[in-house]
Amino acid sequence: MRDFGRQVLDICGERVTAVFISIGSNMGDKTGYCLSALDRMDRIPGCTVKARSSLYRTEPVGVEGQDWYVNGVAELEVELTARVLLDRLLAIEKEMGRERRKKWDSRTLDLDILLFGSQAIHEKDLIVPHPLMHERRFVLAPLTELAPDLIHPVLGKTITELLEKVPDDGQQVMPLKGL
Ligand code: ATP
Ligand code: CA
Ligand code: CA
Repeated sequence: MRDFGRQVLDICGERVTAVFISIGSNMGDKTGYCLSALDRMDRIPGCTVKARSSLYRTEPVGVEGQDWYVNGVAELEVELTARVLLDRLLAIEKEMGRERRKKWDSRTLDLDILLFGSQAIHEKDLIVPHPLMHERRFVLAPLTELAPDLIHPVLGKTITELLEKVPDDGQQVMPLKGL
């Protein structure tokens, strides 16, 4: 079983944190936006994309009448704080034309910090672990590809256990062939 306590590694004196990011798009060139986000995250100074899941076609959750999403998860190693990383991710969303009109509106790109090492952060504009990740098949299905035995630092359950509890209803998740 993967030891989440060791998610903050000390390599050559540098603090390196293992981080998981949810990537999603349901407007325009959805797959292109997700792949471009991976490239752009890897180019953030102090941030390396270590792995990514497959991409999935997923049913929008919590809203009616929207286009299906393309979703995936990336594993990063970062030498940044969670807050600095969030700022960089919001900047990448903007570069991809993301506009914020209303909650859960369609978007070209959404990048959420799911887990930041074993940290629990509770600030007005930054909550980690992401407060809805354990309810979302479109997050847990790709995340199990990368870290099935990783223990959620607040809920104390593995990602596989959390995925088993998520209802299928209204949460279809289908692998995108070849991606
Ligand atoms: P949800 O959080 O339900 O997935 P959303 O991703 O559509 O909704 P956004 O409009 O993209 O929500 O983000 C609104 C704000 O959420 C961001 O500006 C950011 O400050 C805040 N936020 C809080 N916690 C996180 C997190 N873990 N990752 C990304 N953004 C976060
Ligand atoms: Ca989101
Ligand atoms: Ca978001």
